[in-house]
Amino acid sequence: MKRKAVVLSSGGIDSTTCVAAAIEKCRKKNVSSVSVYYGQRHRIELDKAKLIAEYYGIDHYELDLTEIFKYNKTCSLLSQTNIEVEKSSYEEQLKKSDGKPVVTYVPFRNPLFIAAITSLAMSIYPNEKVDVYLGIHQDDSGAAYPDCSPQFNKAMAKAVRLGSGGLVRLVSPFVDCKKADIVKYGLEHNVPYEHTISCYDPDEYGRACGKCGTCIDRLKAFEANGAKDPIDYKE
Ligand SMILES: [Zn+2]
Repeated sequence: MKRKAVVLSSGGIDSTTCVAAAIEKCRKKNVSSVSVYYGQRHRIELDKAKLIAEYYGIDHYELDLTEIFKYNKTCSLLSQTNIEVEKSSYEEQLKKSDGKPVVTYVPFRNPLFIAAITSLAMSIYPNEKVDVYLGIHQDDSGAAYPDCSPQFNKAMAKAVRLGSGGLVRLVSPFVDCKKADIVKYGLEHNVPYEHTISCYDPDEYGRACGKCGTCIDRLKAFEANGAKDPIDYKE
């Protein structure tokens, strides 16, 4: 019997490519996606994740973890903070932050998401073997996002395996890849990148800013593949 798969889908290119990778491996009928609302300023990523699930014809779930993050005052991605989103590359931001996590780091977000999704996976597929797919990759690792590092990922994978009695396995197909490699895989597999959004500061029409760290990374990844990013940018 094929394993089931639950993919953390946040409407961006990494997680959307992960949806495609999970479908390729486990077949469409065995795959679900889930997105998490955690009080982020822009709900557009949740709409995109839903759109992508509809595109592929898979079940989609939404979790709400806003209660946990509502006390935060330091992360620029959360709606209650009025911190402006940095318009520079991660390299420049890390220089400024003196190696500490960047201002878009949501405190301990990934482990919380992974725990919640593992729990969800065991509820929607009881007593079945499930792979929980994550789109983490090399460019996210290290100081900018410590909870995306390969070391963290390895430790969390062990925790998930032990805590689920061996039923759930953490799968990060792109953990050793650069973003450009992910886009390469996605272009080869016709991933609908026109339905994705990566920007941390889109305008009211949902157009990407083209200047924040994640926009810069995204544009570079398409360029490295000699491809044009199909989404709209403000300028
Ligand atoms: Zn942007």
